[in-house]
Amino acid sequence: MSRIKEFFHRWNKRGCPQCGGKEETCVVKDTIQGIAAEVSICCEQCGAEINYWAYGAYLFPQTKIEIVRAFFVGLKRKLREWV
Ligand SMILES: [Zn+2]
Repeated sequence: MSRIKEFFHRWNKRGCPQCGGKEETCVVKDTIQGIAAEVSICCEQCGAEINYWAYGAYLFPQTKIEIVRAFFVGLKRKLREWV
């Protein structure tokens, strides 16, 4: 079961837009009282910035599912405006 989860987790991850690599490293950009406040998530292979995490939230959706969810939430909001 954990293997399926692991596979799903890997599939679900957004790859690096530069090289398609799925391994990522975190680079702490800013700390507040020793706690990471801003973290840059970079590709381990080419060093391109994939995502940015600041104060508990990711700048970009981290997974494909989150992208889809964001799309539907946006759609719902639009529907509410139209109807
Ligand atoms: Zn890369």
